[in-house]
Amino acid sequence: MKLLEGKTAVITGASRGIGRAMAIFFAQNGANLACTDLAYDEHAQSLEKELVALGVKGKVYASDASDFASCEKLVDQVVSDFGTIDILVNNAGITRDQLLMRMTEDQWDLVIKVNLKSVFTMTKAVQKVMLKHKSGSIINMSSVVGVGGNAGQANYSASKAGMIGFTKSIAKELGSRNIRSNAIAPGFIITDMTGQLPEDVVQGWYEKIPLRRGGTAEEVAKVALFLASDLSSYVSGQVISVCGAMQT
Ligand code: NAD
Repeated sequence: MKLLEGKTAVITGASRGIGRAMAIFFAQNGANLACTDLAYDEHAQSLEKELVALGVKGKVYASDASDFASCEKLVDQVVSDFGTIDILVNNAGITRDQLLMRMTEDQWDLVIKVNLKSVFTMTKAVQKVMLKHKSGSIINMSSVVGVGGNAGQANYSASKAGMIGFTKSIAKELGSRNIRSNAIAPGFIITDMTGQLPEDVVQGWYEKIPLRRGGTAEEVAKVALFLASDLSSYVSGQVISVCGAMQT
């Protein structure tokens, strides 16, 4: 029996990077996947094909995770297509890095909306389904900079720290209904998000990481599988770092 056999997972921002790796790994472990991203583009279409080829039900929906009405509509559609939702991964995220001196109001607002408001909108929409079934696992993709802060990322760090407060509150609020809520705090993971950084900055990060390399999206997906499955049935309200000991 596979770890997620018969379960349905919703993953936001899954067309690329960590979200995509989680979707594929969950599918390899038997889950049906309802994935979202901003557009149903070539990345979304190829993910959908890959999921179906793994023998599970897989669909990618174009939906903005930070828009309240869109999330309500999406969840209704997923329930109609898949029957239920057992796992929610709030993964969609962006950066707009800038020193505070130069950070614009738009850069602040957008990062808080996409990274933090989306966790509220999606969790609120999905909780109805999980409450009905008295079971669920919610996983929020935070960051080590949400725990420790980072110069030039006040907006991003604040959004990721906010996600941790949300994660712990929901664990306490919904625990009595057998709904678990945990956060993952990745360190430096090699994806499009970090691919924008200049080579010298990347090397600078690697020198600060005790394992002396960036992590892969698949290495984050392995921790997400643990939190999504019954292997973590007594783990809730926690933040698990996946950072090669960058932050201890
Ligand atoms: P990525 O940029 O490769 O992928 C993010 C995906 O989210 C993209 O496909 C994008 O289109 C989608 N997205 C953006 N806004 C959206 C919205 N409003 N609604 C739906 N989808 C949206 O990023 P990644 O590196 O895979 O990061 C995934 C998550 O992990 C993010 O929350 C990020 O903050 C977090 N994280 C990443 C790293 C890293 O080093 N890469 C480190 C710590 C945390």
